[in-house]
Amino acid sequence: MSNKTRIVVAGPRGRMGSEAVNLVDRTENFELVAVVDSRNEGKRVKDIEGLPSLEAPVYEDIDRCFREVECDVLIDLTTPAVGRKHMESAFHHGVRPVVGTTGFTDDDIAELSSVAEEKQLGAIIAPNFAIGAVLMMKFSQMAAKYFPDVEIIEQHHDQKLDAPSGTAVKTAQMIADVRESKQQGHENEKEELKGARGANMDGMRIHSVRLPGLVAHQEVLFGGEGQTLKIRHDSINRTSFMPGVKLAVETVLKMDQLVYGLENIME
Ligand code: NAP
Repeated sequence: MSNKTRIVVAGPRGRMGSEAVNLVDRTENFELVAVVDSRNEGKRVKDIEGLPSLEAPVYEDIDRCFREVECDVLIDLTTPAVGRKHMESAFHHGVRPVVGTTGFTDDDIAELSSVAEEKQLGAIIAPNFAIGAVLMMKFSQMAAKYFPDVEIIEQHHDQKLDAPSGTAVKTAQMIADVRESKQQGHENEKEELKGARGANMDGMRIHSVRLPGLVAHQEVLFGGEGQTLKIRHDSINRTSFMPGVKLAVETVLKMDQLVYGLENIME
Protein backbone atom coordinates (compact mmCIF):
# COMPACT_ATOMS: atom_id res chain seq x y z
CA MET A 1 0.00 0.00 0.00
CA SER A 2 1.26 3.50 -0.85
CA ASN A 3 2.14 5.67 2.13
CA LYS A 4 1.28 8.88 0.29
CA THR A 5 -1.18 11.33 1.84
CA ARG A 6 -4.44 10.93 -0.08
CA ILE A 7 -6.00 14.32 -0.78
CA VAL A 8 -9.32 15.65 -2.10
CA VAL A 9 -9.35 19.30 -3.28
CA ALA A 10 -12.67 21.21 -3.21
CA GLY A 11 -12.93 24.21 -5.54
CA PRO A 12 -10.37 22.95 -8.11
CA ARG A 13 -11.29 25.48 -10.83
CA GLY A 14 -10.84 28.44 -8.46
CA ARG A 15 -7.78 30.67 -8.32
CA MET A 16 -6.60 29.06 -5.06
CA GLY A 17 -8.00 25.58 -5.69
CA SER A 18 -6.17 25.20 -9.02
CA GLU A 19 -2.87 26.10 -7.29
CA ALA A 20 -3.67 23.49 -4.62
CA VAL A 21 -4.24 20.84 -7.33
CA ASN A 22 -0.82 21.75 -8.80
CA LEU A 23 0.78 21.58 -5.34
CA VAL A 24 -0.60 18.08 -4.71
CA ASP A 25 0.45 16.98 -8.20
CA ARG A 26 4.07 18.10 -7.77
CA THR A 27 4.55 16.97 -4.13
CA GLU A 28 6.13 13.54 -3.94
CA ASN A 29 4.29 12.31 -0.84
CA PHE A 30 0.88 13.68 -1.84
CA GLU A 31 -1.68 12.00 -4.07
CA LEU A 32 -4.78 13.65 -5.54
CA VAL A 33 -7.54 11.05 -5.20
CA ALA A 34 -10.51 13.23 -6.27
CA VAL A 35 -11.76 16.80 -6.59
CA VAL A 36 -15.12 18.28 -5.56
CA ASP A 37 -16.39 20.82 -8.05
CA SER A 38 -19.73 22.62 -8.43
CA ARG A 39 -19.93 21.13 -11.95
CA ASN A 40 -18.20 18.49 -14.14
CA GLU A 41 -19.63 15.45 -12.26
CA GLY A 42 -18.28 12.20 -13.71
CA LYS A 43 -15.36 13.81 -15.53
CA ARG A 44 -11.66 13.45 -14.69
CA VAL A 45 -9.31 16.22 -13.52
CA LYS A 46 -7.51 16.04 -16.90
CA ASP A 47 -10.81 17.01 -18.63
CA ILE A 48 -10.93 20.37 -16.81
CA GLU A 49 -9.16 23.16 -18.66
CA GLY A 50 -6.08 24.50 -16.92
CA LEU A 51 -5.64 21.52 -14.57
CA PRO A 52 -2.87 18.91 -14.80
CA SER A 53 -3.38 15.69 -16.74
CA LEU A 54 -4.57 13.51 -13.84
CA GLU A 55 -7.05 10.64 -13.79
CA ALA A 56 -8.58 11.60 -10.39
CA PRO A 57 -12.41 11.72 -10.60
CA VAL A 58 -14.58 14.82 -10.23
CA TYR A 59 -17.54 14.75 -7.81
CA GLU A 60 -20.24 17.35 -7.22
CA ASP A 61 -21.51 15.62 -4.06
CA ILE A 62 -18.85 15.58 -1.34
CA ASP A 63 -20.60 12.86 0.71
CA ARG A 64 -20.60 10.55 -2.28
CA CYS A 65 -16.94 11.42 -2.91
CA PHE A 66 -15.97 10.42 0.64
CA ARG A 67 -18.08 7.24 0.44
CA GLU A 68 -16.40 6.12 -2.79
CA VAL A 69 -12.82 7.38 -2.40
CA GLU A 70 -10.35 6.63 0.42
CA CYS A 71 -8.93 9.94 1.59
CA ASP A 72 -6.86 11.40 4.48
CA VAL A 73 -7.14 15.17 3.97
CA LEU A 74 -9.64 17.56 2.38
CA ILE A 75 -8.25 20.88 1.11
CA ASP A 76 -11.17 23.31 0.84
CA LEU A 77 -10.90 26.59 -1.07
CA THR A 78 -14.51 27.48 -1.85
CA THR A 79 -16.94 29.80 -0.02
CA PRO A 80 -17.78 29.94 3.72
CA ALA A 81 -21.23 28.28 3.41
CA VAL A 82 -19.89 25.50 1.17
CA GLY A 83 -16.68 25.14 3.21
CA ARG A 84 -18.61 24.64 6.42
CA LYS A 85 -20.75 21.91 4.84
CA HIS A 86 -17.62 20.28 3.43
CA MET A 87 -15.91 20.31 6.83
CA GLU A 88 -18.92 18.66 8.48
CA SER A 89 -18.93 15.97 5.81
CA ALA A 90 -15.16 15.45 6.21
CA PHE A 91 -15.51 14.96 9.99
CA HIS A 92 -18.40 12.56 9.42
CA HIS A 93 -16.18 10.42 7.16
CA GLY A 94 -13.04 10.61 9.36
CA VAL A 95 -11.22 12.99 6.95
CA ARG A 96 -9.04 15.84 8.27
CA PRO A 97 -9.87 19.23 6.70
CA VAL A 98 -7.32 21.92 5.75
CA VAL A 99 -9.36 25.00 4.94
CA GLY A 100 -8.25 28.30 3.40
CA THR A 101 -11.75 29.55 2.72
CA THR A 102 -12.30 32.85 4.55
CA GLY A 103 -15.38 34.40 6.10
CA PHE A 104 -16.26 31.84 8.80
CA THR A 105 -18.05 33.36 11.81
CA ASP A 106 -16.90 32.83 15.42
CA ASP A 107 -19.94 30.57 15.87
CA ASP A 108 -18.92 28.47 12.82
CA ILE A 109 -15.43 28.01 14.28
CA ALA A 110 -16.72 27.17 17.77
CA GLU A 111 -19.21 24.63 16.42
CA LEU A 112 -16.68 23.02 14.05
CA SER A 113 -14.13 22.87 16.89
CA SER A 114 -16.50 20.90 19.06
CA VAL A 115 -17.22 18.41 16.24
CA ALA A 116 -13.43 17.98 15.69
CA GLU A 117 -12.96 17.40 19.42
CA GLU A 118 -15.80 14.92 19.59
CA LYS A 119 -14.38 12.99 16.60
CA GLN A 120 -10.74 13.44 17.78
CA LEU A 121 -9.82 14.67 14.31
CA GLY A 122 -7.28 17.33 13.40
CA ALA A 123 -8.42 20.31 11.30
CA ILE A 124 -6.80 23.58 10.25
CA ILE A 125 -8.62 26.73 9.17
CA ALA A 126 -6.09 29.34 8.04
CA PRO A 127 -7.38 32.66 6.71
CA ASN A 128 -3.87 33.30 5.39
CA PHE A 129 -1.55 30.52 4.24
CA ALA A 130 1.31 32.90 3.34
CA ILE A 131 4.09 32.20 5.83
CA GLY A 132 5.42 35.76 5.34
CA ALA A 133 2.01 37.17 6.30
CA VAL A 134 2.03 35.15 9.52
CA LEU A 135 5.48 36.57 10.33
CA MET A 136 4.13 40.08 9.58
CA MET A 137 1.40 39.47 12.20
CA LYS A 138 3.90 38.17 14.75
CA PHE A 139 6.31 41.10 14.16
CA SER A 140 3.38 43.54 14.44
CA GLN A 141 2.41 42.04 17.78
CA MET A 142 6.01 42.51 18.99
CA ALA A 143 6.05 46.14 17.82
CA ALA A 144 2.66 47.03 19.32
CA LYS A 145 4.00 46.61 22.81
CA TYR A 146 6.19 49.68 22.19
CA PHE A 147 4.03 51.48 19.60
CA PRO A 148 0.37 51.43 20.72
CA ASP A 149 -0.76 53.76 17.89
CA VAL A 150 -1.37 51.57 14.86
CA GLU A 151 -3.34 51.59 11.63
CA ILE A 152 -3.70 48.65 9.26
CA ILE A 153 -4.06 49.08 5.50
CA GLU A 154 -4.98 45.89 3.68
CA GLN A 155 -5.20 45.72 -0.13
CA HIS A 156 -6.82 42.96 -2.19
CA HIS A 157 -8.12 42.23 -5.68
CA ASP A 158 -11.64 43.54 -6.37
CA GLN A 159 -13.27 40.06 -6.46
CA LYS A 160 -12.80 39.59 -2.72
CA LEU A 161 -16.16 39.36 -0.94
CA ASP A 162 -15.32 40.08 2.72
CA ALA A 163 -13.90 43.29 4.21
CA PRO A 164 -11.84 43.83 6.22
CA SER A 165 -9.74 40.78 5.35
CA GLY A 166 -9.45 37.90 7.83
CA THR A 167 -5.73 38.70 8.06
CA ALA A 168 -6.36 42.34 9.04
CA VAL A 169 -8.83 41.30 11.74
CA LYS A 170 -6.46 38.63 13.01
CA THR A 171 -3.57 41.13 13.08
CA ALA A 172 -5.69 43.57 15.09
CA GLN A 173 -6.71 40.79 17.51
CA MET A 174 -3.08 39.75 18.04
CA ILE A 175 -2.12 43.40 18.64
CA ALA A 176 -5.07 43.88 21.03
CA ASP A 177 -3.74 40.97 23.11
CA VAL A 178 -0.62 42.97 24.02
CA ARG A 179 -1.73 46.61 23.58
CA GLU A 180 -3.63 48.52 26.23
CA SER A 181 -7.00 49.53 24.81
CA LYS A 182 -6.64 53.02 23.30
CA GLN A 183 -8.81 55.37 21.24
CA GLN A 184 -6.47 56.75 18.58
CA GLY A 185 -6.44 60.12 16.82
CA HIS A 186 -7.79 63.46 18.13
CA GLU A 187 -10.61 63.12 20.67
CA ASN A 188 -12.70 65.62 18.69
CA GLU A 189 -11.92 63.97 15.35
CA LYS A 190 -14.90 64.16 12.95
CA GLU A 191 -15.43 62.20 9.74
CA GLU A 192 -16.56 64.64 7.03
CA LEU A 193 -17.17 61.65 4.77
CA LYS A 194 -18.48 58.47 6.46
CA GLY A 195 -15.85 55.74 6.56
CA ALA A 196 -12.92 58.09 5.94
CA ARG A 197 -11.14 56.88 9.07
CA GLY A 198 -11.79 53.19 8.31
CA ALA A 199 -13.15 50.50 10.62
CA ASN A 200 -12.52 50.80 14.35
CA MET A 201 -11.26 47.81 16.31
CA ASP A 202 -10.43 48.63 19.90
CA GLY A 203 -9.36 52.13 18.75
CA MET A 204 -7.15 50.76 15.95
CA ARG A 205 -8.16 51.73 12.41
CA ILE A 206 -8.41 49.23 9.54
CA HIS A 207 -8.60 50.40 5.91
CA SER A 208 -9.59 48.06 3.07
CA VAL A 209 -8.48 48.79 -0.51
CA ARG A 210 -10.04 46.79 -3.39
CA LEU A 211 -8.56 47.14 -6.88
CA PRO A 212 -8.04 44.95 -9.93
CA GLY A 213 -4.39 43.97 -10.30
CA LEU A 214 -3.80 43.48 -6.59
CA VAL A 215 -3.43 40.01 -5.00
CA ALA A 216 -3.10 40.27 -1.18
CA HIS A 217 -1.06 42.96 0.57
CA GLN A 218 -1.00 44.42 4.05
CA GLU A 219 0.87 47.21 5.75
CA VAL A 220 0.83 47.74 9.50
CA LEU A 221 1.80 51.32 10.34
CA PHE A 222 2.99 52.30 13.79
CA GLY A 223 3.48 55.90 14.90
CA GLY A 224 5.53 57.09 17.88
CA GLU A 225 7.29 60.25 18.94
CA GLY A 226 9.46 61.39 16.02
CA GLN A 227 9.34 58.00 14.31
CA THR A 228 7.16 55.62 12.33
CA LEU A 229 7.52 51.92 11.66
CA LYS A 230 5.98 50.03 8.72
CA ILE A 231 5.69 46.26 8.52
CA ARG A 232 4.56 45.11 5.10
CA HIS A 233 3.83 41.84 3.36
CA ASP A 234 2.93 41.27 -0.31
CA SER A 235 1.59 38.11 -1.90
CA ILE A 236 2.66 38.67 -5.51
CA ASN A 237 0.73 35.63 -6.75
CA ARG A 238 -1.21 32.69 -5.35
CA THR A 239 1.74 30.32 -5.29
CA SER A 240 2.80 32.31 -2.19
CA PHE A 241 0.10 30.45 -0.23
CA MET A 242 1.17 26.91 -1.20
CA PRO A 243 4.12 26.31 1.20
CA GLY A 244 1.63 27.09 4.01
CA VAL A 245 -0.95 24.67 2.56
CA LYS A 246 1.74 21.96 2.35
CA LEU A 247 2.80 22.59 5.96
CA ALA A 248 -0.86 22.43 7.08
CA VAL A 249 -1.50 19.11 5.27
CA GLU A 250 1.61 17.55 6.81
CA THR A 251 0.76 18.86 10.29
CA VAL A 252 -2.98 18.08 10.36
CA LEU A 253 -2.24 14.35 10.08
CA LYS A 254 -0.66 14.48 13.57
CA MET A 255 -3.42 16.56 15.19
CA ASP A 256 -6.64 15.63 17.01
CA GLN A 257 -8.34 19.03 17.31
CA LEU A 258 -9.20 22.11 15.23
CA VAL A 259 -6.60 24.89 15.04
CA TYR A 260 -7.48 28.34 13.66
CA GLY A 261 -4.57 30.27 12.10
CA LEU A 262 -1.31 29.05 10.54
CA GLU A 263 0.67 30.83 13.29
CA ASN A 264 -0.50 28.14 15.72
CA ILE A 265 1.28 25.38 13.80
CA MET A 266 4.48 27.36 13.09
CA GLU A 267 7.34 26.89 15.55
P1 NAP B 1 -12.56 31.54 -6.58
O1 NAP B 1 -11.55 31.71 -7.66
O2 NAP B 1 -13.90 32.21 -6.69
O3 NAP B 1 -12.76 29.98 -6.35
C1 NAP B 1 -13.76 29.41 -5.57
C2 NAP B 1 -14.12 28.10 -6.23
O4 NAP B 1 -15.03 27.38 -5.39
C3 NAP B 1 -14.83 28.28 -7.59
O5 NAP B 1 -14.19 27.48 -8.56
C4 NAP B 1 -16.24 27.78 -7.29
O6 NAP B 1 -16.86 27.21 -8.42
C5 NAP B 1 -15.95 26.75 -6.24
N1 NAP B 1 -17.16 26.31 -5.57
C6 NAP B 1 -18.23 27.03 -5.18
N2 NAP B 1 -19.16 26.23 -4.65
C7 NAP B 1 -18.67 24.97 -4.71
C8 NAP B 1 -19.16 23.70 -4.33
N3 NAP B 1 -20.38 23.54 -3.78
N4 NAP B 1 -18.38 22.61 -4.53
C9 NAP B 1 -17.17 22.74 -5.08
N5 NAP B 1 -16.64 23.92 -5.48
C10 NAP B 1 -17.39 25.01 -5.29
O7 NAP B 1 -11.94 32.05 -5.17
P2 NAP B 1 -10.42 31.99 -4.68
O8 NAP B 1 -9.76 33.29 -4.93
O9 NAP B 1 -9.79 30.73 -5.17
O10 NAP B 1 -10.66 31.88 -3.11
C11 NAP B 1 -11.31 30.77 -2.52
C12 NAP B 1 -11.40 31.03 -1.02
O11 NAP B 1 -10.07 31.08 -0.47
C13 NAP B 1 -12.06 32.36 -0.65
O12 NAP B 1 -12.78 32.20 0.56
C14 NAP B 1 -10.86 33.29 -0.42
O13 NAP B 1 -11.16 34.39 0.42
C15 NAP B 1 -9.90 32.33 0.20
N6 NAP B 1 -8.47 32.68 0.13
C16 NAP B 1 -7.71 32.21 1.14
C17 NAP B 1 -6.36 32.42 1.15
C18 NAP B 1 -5.54 31.86 2.28
O14 NAP B 1 -4.32 32.05 2.29
N7 NAP B 1 -6.17 31.18 3.22
C19 NAP B 1 -5.75 33.15 0.10
C20 NAP B 1 -6.56 33.60 -0.95
C21 NAP B 1 -7.92 33.34 -0.93
P3 NAP B 1 -18.00 28.08 -9.24
O15 NAP B 1 -17.24 29.17 -9.88
O16 NAP B 1 -18.60 27.11 -10.19
O17 NAP B 1 -18.96 28.57 -8.19
